[in-house]
Amino acid sequence: MDPYGTLDPGANGQERPAPRLREAGTLRVLFRGARKRCPRCGERRIFDGWFTLAPSCPTCDLRFEREEGGFLGAMAVNYAVAIVFWLVVMAVGIALTVPVVPVAPLLAASIGVLTVVPVWFYPRSKTLWAAIEFLVVRSEPGYRSPPLVRDPRTKDLE
Ligand SMILES: [Zn+2]
Repeated sequence: MDPYGTLDPGANGQERPAPRLREAGTLRVLFRGARKRCPRCGERRIFDGWFTLAPSCPTCDLRFEREEGGFLGAMAVNYAVAIVFWLVVMAVGIALTVPVVPVAPLLAASIGVLTVVPVWFYPRSKTLWAAIEFLVVRSEPGYRSPPLVRDPRTKDLE
């Protein structure tokens, strides 16, 4: 693509459309969500602290919470991930100690897993859910990619 195309639109006698953000594939969108990044452009500076997700992306302007209470899905994702972690810990704990299963240590491990994992995964559950919602929005016929303001990939070099 010609990076100077928009600077001199009349140079070759025809108007060029403003460049638009190149959309990532579905897996990449979900992967970005799982890594606490903007699903659409990959921007990483979208959190204010550990728990507070910005209302929208500063780079591509994607709104993360589509509607009031829209992050109930994120809570469900977070619970599901915590339960999966807990089941793995229990299964391994029981498999390694059977037939004398130590109930008290497993109980302590359960409390630890079910406390630490939801806190650790909380911001990821929000961006992952935002990624799922973004994929739904993007599949609608009226969707258009936003104008390309700056390429978020160049910031990775900082
Ligand atoms: Zn973005």
